Amino acid sequence: MKSMERTALFPGSFDPFTKGHMSIVDQGLEIFDKIVVGVGANTEKRGLLTVANRIRLIEDIYAGNPNVEVEPYSKLTGEFCREIGAKFILRGMRNTVDYEYERSMMLVNQKLYPEITTVLLFTPPEYVAVSSSMLRELVSFGHDTTMLMPEHIDIKNYL
Ligand code: ADP
Repeated sequence: MKSMERTALFPGSFDPFTKGHMSIVDQGLEIFDKIVVGVGANTEKRGLLTVANRIRLIEDIYAGNPNVEVEPYSKLTGEFCREIGAKFILRGMRNTVDYEYERSMMLVNQKLYPEITTVLLFTPPEYVAVSSSMLRELVSFGHDTTMLMPEHIDIKNYL
């Protein structure tokens, strides 16, 4: 682990990564030196994108930003934090449903990995209604998704 670098893991399914996720990474970059976007590869429950394409999409968004890395992982999130030397888990919160879910995960992680701190950031209002599942729904009906995707990203290139 590099000595004073503050690294946060932003774990999730990211199927696909949305403007909402991007808002959390962008806010996180104000706090942390490095953010590793961890794409959970064990929860591949027949998603829209393959894990490889989820990763490629996120890499394309942050190409040229050396402070953001993208990695697949298939172990407990806390174990992966230890492996990469991340002392923080970064997560986003849209509403009270997210809050309850995130809080229970935080409590388990706190017990298992006491040295790791969970940091929850609020979603900006314009992305409160954005979710990967909504995006998948739009894609499955062939609807335009540009308002939910980061600029310059065409989901068709990753399907
Ligand atoms: P998971 O299956 O682990 O919940 P997701 O890819 O759905 O993975 O979400 C990863 C993280 O991003 C979670 O903390 C989730 O709350 C957050 N998130 C999802 N959508 C948004 C959004 N629109 N704005 C901010 N955060 C979001």
